[in-house]
Amino acid sequence: MNKAIVLSVLLLQSVTLAAPTATGQGGAVATVDENATRAALGVLSSGGNAVDAAITAAAAIGVTEPYSCGIGGGGFLVIYDAATQRVTTIDSRETAPRNYTPNVFIGPDGKAIPFDERVNSGLSVGVPGLVAGWDEALRRFGSKPLRELLQPAIDLAENGFTVDQTFFDQTKANQERFGAFSSTRATFLNAQGEPHAVGSTFKNPDLAKTYRLLAEQGRDGFYRGEVASAVAQTVQQPPTVPGTQRNVRKGTLTVDDLRAYQAIVREPTQSTYRGYTIVGMPMPSSGGPTIALALNLLEGYDLSSAPRAEALHRYLEASRLAFADRGAYLGDPQFVDLPLEGLLSKQYAAERRKALGDRAAAGSVPPGDPYPFQNDPSYPMRPQAAKDTEGTSTTHITVSDRNGNIVAYTCTIESTGGSGITVPGYGFLLNNELTDFDAVAPHPNAPEAGKRPRSSMSPTLVFKDGKPVMALGSPGGSTIITTVLQSLVNVLDFGMTLPEAIAAPRATQRNGETTTAEPGFINGNDGQALLNLGHKFTETAEIGAATGIYFHPDGTVTAAAEPTRRGGGSAMVENPR
Ligand code: GLU
Repeated sequence: MNKAIVLSVLLLQSVTLAAPTATGQGGAVATVDENATRAALGVLSSGGNAVDAAITAAAAIGVTEPYSCGIGGGGFLVIYDAATQRVTTIDSRETAPRNYTPNVFIGPDGKAIPFDERVNSGLSVGVPGLVAGWDEALRRFGSKPLRELLQPAIDLAENGFTVDQTFFDQTKANQERFGAFSSTRATFLNAQGEPHAVGSTFKNPDLAKTYRLLAEQGRDGFYRGEVASAVAQTVQQPPTVPGTQRNVRKGTLTVDDLRAYQAIVREPTQSTYRGYTIVGMPMPSSGGPTIALALNLLEGYDLSSAPRAEALHRYLEASRLAFADRGAYLGDPQFVDLPLEGLLSKQYAAERRKALGDRAAAGSVPPGDPYPFQNDPSYPMRPQAAKDTEGTSTTHITVSDRNGNIVAYTCTIESTGGSGITVPGYGFLLNNELTDFDAVAPHPNAPEAGKRPRSSMSPTLVFKDGKPVMALGSPGGSTIITTVLQSLVNVLDFGMTLPEAIAAPRATQRNGETTTAEPGFINGNDGQALLNLGHKFTETAEIGAATGIYFHPDGTVTAAAEPTRRGGGSAMVENPR
């Protein structure tokens, strides 16, 4: 080949390589996965809207990132409809089966069943919500049939995708427990019981078959008929490999539980921050409320002109206080009277700010008292510390279309690899979402029949003067909340661009003795200065993997995905600049 050809081949390759940031006009997509981003962009380019494209992205991620999100799990959609300028949220959170009681996770010894045993069991599997969420979103906002939207994912499952390091690493980390279930072993490990090698092609024909059923039958293809029977059967009789050392408990989820499942349309959590309107998921996700709590506290300080360490100190301590309230008060609103009116009032924030000192608190702080700030102060008060056991899986999809509609969509099967149990013959993992309940009652987040466990997922939209400014979200269990919060502060207070905010080193304070932080945060100047203010750090390699879209005043958009964490993501716009 002559030099010119080599150069043009290289250029062509660089155009098709996954890029974490893209700016231009028209629709935009940011996800953790290039296949998913490309598939969603294809939907936008063929006239689909943001809701259509978000569903295509989620279905594709169910193939290529099956340990993070899939039809065996659930999620939360925050949808901005440009025509009506309204935000709708759709809660497709997994629910507890009908016969669950607050003691469902208590063993014969009267203690909570060990966490690992709860995860790898039929007991942790909530009624999956993902497909019902798609159905609800499409009926309200969709412009294309589910059949068409699933096609890219069907092709991916059937023809396969190239195993990358992240997929390999996640399989490797789960190898032992995946090997304990015959269906999971057959689906996700090779004939030797090992992860498929990096660079090999991974196919999931069972999942392609299941997606085809959904394409033909819509939500009934999941909640009734053969898939529903297989899900219930799998939960009740987890397909363990003979001789496994694991104590795998059976669950009780039935076809009736599946048939009864409903996605719920909810009013978003809305708050204000320095003239911006922040719109997020309401309970049962604590994402929106906890971010609002922290921002209300932070509004009392001028972070943009404060010395940086002082500003970061405020961020960490506001988060600590917000998490104290989250742990004490928040659960499924259908089951618990939540003092949200008080918690989210600016008056409560003013009072609560008195607990935010100039130095780091020594450890966990107690929750505040929101009841005097309620119109009805007679709500029952049940503050109790909650233990954080949420996984760090999950994925976030951000999409906008040429008409200005926006979708922020976080979906999950809870732990990376969920319950570890694949539905035999159908190619998807079941969630372990019910471990997001507090195992020990009484607690607002204790399990109950038909209840949804408290989440941290935080798909978030930001508006100024009624116009969209940005949309974002992240995986990462309870660190989702701080990742989104820190990214908001990075943009709105520290003046970073959205890609810079998403890339910046992270720290997460969730009312613990130490702040978990990335090396780049701890070892930088900020980390050192924060030590002097009494902060203690626990190092972790990575926190979160955010994606988002920024809407510039001139009508262009920047789609931004995580550049490096979890192998980096992929952002594309219809008409790149
Ligand atoms: N189950 C968690 C939640 O709903 C998400 C888990 C994760 O991010 O891995 O908040």
